[in-house]
Amino acid sequence: RGKFIVSTNFKMNGSRAFLQDLVENLNRADLDSNVGTITIPSQLSNLRKDIAVGGQNCFWKSSGAYTGEISAEMLKDAGAEYVILGHTERRTLFKESDSLIGFKVASALAAGLKVIACIGETLSERESNTTLQVLFRQLQAIVDHVQDLNQEEKWEDVVIAYEPVWAIGTGRVATPEQAQVVHAAIRRRVEETVEGSVAEGMRIIYGGSVNLGNARQLAREKDVDGLFVGGASLKPEFVEICNVLR
Ligand code: 13P
Repeated sequence: RGKFIVSTNFKMNGSRAFLQDLVENLNRADLDSNVGTITIPSQLSNLRKDIAVGGQNCFWKSSGAYTGEISAEMLKDAGAEYVILGHTERRTLFKESDSLIGFKVASALAAGLKVIACIGETLSERESNTTLQVLFRQLQAIVDHVQDLNQEEKWEDVVIAYEPVWAIGTGRVATPEQAQVVHAAIRRRVEETVEGSVAEGMRIIYGGSVNLGNARQLAREKDVDGLFVGGASLKPEFVEICNVLR
């Protein structure tokens, strides 16, 4: 498995000046070289080179008359290595379907980006014991489209983010045990639907109310291969979350 990942998700936040302060803070920081850090900016310049940059979304066409969209190729051209796809905010607020997300994941991989593909259940789905059913449905759409590429090595460029919807922006983090159970189930499912070596090598990261207070315990779980940080990534404590394995 690759390095443990800690990624920001700034979402639609931050003025230029605010983000510049954040960048300067990261640039000065003594970061653990065993952790891969990714920033998913609204906009970032002068960021140190050992931190990868990603986009928050992209379209599946490479160019053309698609006002308001950005392509994977354009993100790459701008220096991005990653893109987030399938975030719950895209699924819910922008009505992105499982199959559209699967298609976008495959298109972004084909364009040479690495993808953080998000899946997650709502509170009512968890309470009605359909968590794994929902996650596996979302995952299957991704698996189907990636398998259509017929390039098994592309799986190395896929990171799955488990982000329970009830934990995002709520302060209600999943317990380390809850995260571990789901991450292990996702890995088993990838083993069944793709291949054992892909499942073993895949990084499955957790997102939803991660902060400095809960990061270390989550990171200790065997199948938690990284942390996806929203609100706390806009604060100075993000640097300490990056060093959680120390
Ligand atoms: P919060 O950390 O603010 O809950 O957001 C998590 C998230 O959406 C990461 O993609």
